[in-house]
Amino acid sequence: MKKRIAVLPGDGIGKEVARGAVEILQAVGERFGHQFDFSYGKIGGTAIDEYGTPLTDETIQLCKESDAVLLGAVGGPKWDKAPAHVRPEKGLLKLRKDLNLYANLRPTSYYESLADSSPLRKEVIQDVDMLIVRELTGGLYFGKPSERVQDNGQDAVVDTLYYQKAEMYRVIKLAFELAQGRKKRVTSIDKANVLESSRMWREIAEEVSKDFPDVTLDHMLVDNAAMQMVKNPKRFDVVVTENMFGDILSDEASVLTGSLGMLPSASISEKGPYLFEPIHGSAPDIAGKNMANPLAMILSAAMMLRVSFGMEEEAAEVERAVNQVLDAGFRTGDIASFGQTHSSTTEMIDEVKAVL
Ligand code: ATP
Ligand code: MG
Repeated sequence: MKKRIAVLPGDGIGKEVARGAVEILQAVGERFGHQFDFSYGKIGGTAIDEYGTPLTDETIQLCKESDAVLLGAVGGPKWDKAPAHVRPEKGLLKLRKDLNLYANLRPTSYYESLADSSPLRKEVIQDVDMLIVRELTGGLYFGKPSERVQDNGQDAVVDTLYYQKAEMYRVIKLAFELAQGRKKRVTSIDKANVLESSRMWREIAEEVSKDFPDVTLDHMLVDNAAMQMVKNPKRFDVVVTENMFGDILSDEASVLTGSLGMLPSASISEKGPYLFEPIHGSAPDIAGKNMANPLAMILSAAMMLRVSFGMEEEAAEVERAVNQVLDAGFRTGDIASFGQTHSSTTEMIDEVKAVL
């Protein structure tokens, strides 16, 4: 199969880990007889430095013409004081909007060999396997107005939580479809005791669930969900929620298993291309030091193989190789236990390649 992949390494460790994913994909291509064509674009601070904007029209075009997009990470202290419209993160928000990436998928998996790095006891996290589906293009982060106002002579502020029914419907439906390939349980998270938007969300979840009789649905208030994620994360299979709740809960979920540098994500649109990126940021503190864990990015590439290209066997093979490298004891600093030798980014990449 021939596939075009847009690679946007971005800033900081994004560049280091993106190279790893490309090398692994090249190895997969050779072994399975696929042709992957990579084209590179700049995004974030790197693009600001070169073009004065975090995302150019050419880069957007490049992504639209590709079958899938791989993104490293954006941001860094160098650009933190820039005016709002030339912040690196703006580039990513714009890309999500332009590609209509309405859902963000974040699996949280348990790695036996990393149990020591988790903030939770092993009994609590063992076998955790959840998938958070977060609505990504609506809600509070995009609703207008969002501004400072004067109200009866008082300084005041307004943000707007706006959704169209169809926007809620498609992301909830996606969660049910994904649950069918998993443990067939959807937990829909809202704040229906307070918010009208949440009451509508809940109604739609009930409506969608009628079309999926094989999937069980339960509702949970977001405050309780935040607690349950720490107390009993095993109870979750697929979790679906709106943009801001999902932002917060997915970060919470990502630290449960002690493997921030291990977790991939996918962002989905109706027609593609989809975007795949590690959940971690550009990690300015370790950028350029060959210390970053490349496995989240490599696992994002595996997710791309599975979700965008339907290459299940190839994806599973990459995941197996990653597990083999961990079982053999190779660790970057972020996942090493006390006394364990640290491998560099490039060593980890080479080890994964060697067992593919
Ligand atoms: P962002 O705002 O872009 O999400 P952040 O400051 O929230 O960034 P990260 O950039 O992900 O978070 O970094 C958080 C911490 O985790 C840092 O100390 C960083 O060095 C570490 N870290 C993140 N990703 C990795 C990785 N792949 N390998 C090793 N350490 C990492
Ligand atoms: Mg962050």
